[in-house]
Amino acid sequence: MKKYIVSTSIAAVLLLFNSCATNPVTGKRDIVLMSEEQEIALGAQSDPAVLAQFGLYEDKALQQFIQQKGQAMAAVSHRPELKYDFKVVDSPVINAFALPGGYVYFTRGIMAHFNNEAQFAGVLGHEIGHITARHSVQQQSKATLAQVGLIGAMVISPEIAQLGDVASQGLGLLFLKFGRDDERESDELGVEYSTKIGYDADEMADFFLTLQRQQAGSGQAIPDFLSTHPNPGDRYTKVHELAAAWKKKENLTNAKVARNDYLKRIDGLVYGEDPRQGFVENSVFYHPELKFRFPVPSGWGYQNTPQVFQMAPKDGSAMMNLMLVPGETLEAAAQALMQGFNLQPVESKSTTVNGLPALAIVADQQPQQQAQQQQQQQVIRTLTYLIRYGNNNYSLMGITTADNFDNYFQTFSSTMQSFAELKEADKLNRKPERIRIVTVPQTATLSQILQNNNIKQDRLEEFAILNGMELTDRVEKGTMVKVVSH
Ligand SMILES: [Zn+2]
Repeated sequence: MKKYIVSTSIAAVLLLFNSCATNPVTGKRDIVLMSEEQEIALGAQSDPAVLAQFGLYEDKALQQFIQQKGQAMAAVSHRPELKYDFKVVDSPVINAFALPGGYVYFTRGIMAHFNNEAQFAGVLGHEIGHITARHSVQQQSKATLAQVGLIGAMVISPEIAQLGDVASQGLGLLFLKFGRDDERESDELGVEYSTKIGYDADEMADFFLTLQRQQAGSGQAIPDFLSTHPNPGDRYTKVHELAAAWKKKENLTNAKVARNDYLKRIDGLVYGEDPRQGFVENSVFYHPELKFRFPVPSGWGYQNTPQVFQMAPKDGSAMMNLMLVPGETLEAAAQALMQGFNLQPVESKSTTVNGLPALAIVADQQPQQQAQQQQQQQVIRTLTYLIRYGNNNYSLMGITTADNFDNYFQTFSSTMQSFAELKEADKLNRKPERIRIVTVPQTATLSQILQNNNIKQDRLEEFAILNGMELTDRVEKGTMVKVVSH
């Protein structure tokens, strides 16, 4: 959770109209349901939701780098006339994705895992390829928006999920699964575009190996460009073949890799979770920047995004979330909250929480009439504590069905009443890990070098993957290597 104010109307509007258009890449006539204007509008509407979900990574030089390389590549692409925008978003997850109309996003997590500019350029070309070949536009036509979100999946009741799912509204688009043919086509375009601006596309294939190793080790969610390829080996071979063919075609003899240049760029990059945006330790959520704390009920899962911190029990029968609500007073905030979530107050009282002024409100959400006709839906009952602290209104909302409310009341209220100012220095001063680039002083194995740089035994494999090397590899004196420090 960051200092974002929640907005209840970030849902992207999907414009679905039939039209027939010539595909910019294949030159063939496609049946797509969107005009170019609609495609651009869809991207422009979804962009704020992406930034609200992840936040922009604060590093001017890195943002300039992706913008500059992206624009250079867009200019040699099949749709140079589109207005493109390239951003690094503040997420530790390894991913890159594109929205229709020219919006491309790389996470800081994927930026940490590239080992040279050529790898970065290959993935950049792949994402631009999804835009130029109008993949998501066609995918949209098939109406297969995947609804995701960790909590969304955990919560059984769709009504509870809907009310609690502030963060992923409007983001369905991001989680489109492209088909295998689309991914193959984007690989080809990635090779073509990166070769055309002088990079060695062979490196893109090598990056697939890094991703495969990383996934095998962590079980992390699958990034876009690995999502629908059952046989990564074939893809690796194919990209190498394409790279050779395009080098020949473009007469590229001195293909750029730019390893050291890239590594210097990511020196100091935040690595892994950033505790300054809130972290959970021993079942307590701490937020060092906003200086507060409260407990997470035992056995509950949680998810932290810039907009909202969410918690839910394993059986998904309830959830609690914390967010900031605008308003000069608690009363004004309460009104905004009731309206935004379509809640009818049942009772409310003024109180204090660890010395902070607060409002406790029980409120119901009636099933919508349409839904009522389709199926039996239950009344949703909520308990909310609005707490005024440091010029902000914090809303802790517990959500469950009216039937279940008595069972959860105690858990909800004890969590909310434990909200307090964070004073512990060791939590307030918690710093994220950052990538450090070191130059190897003496030829040694990677394993030795990592250990010399205080990388713990149980993290050696993680850093081998991060460096795109094996622990037994001999690393020559003068080579740059990634390690971390606080
Ligand atoms: Zn892809």
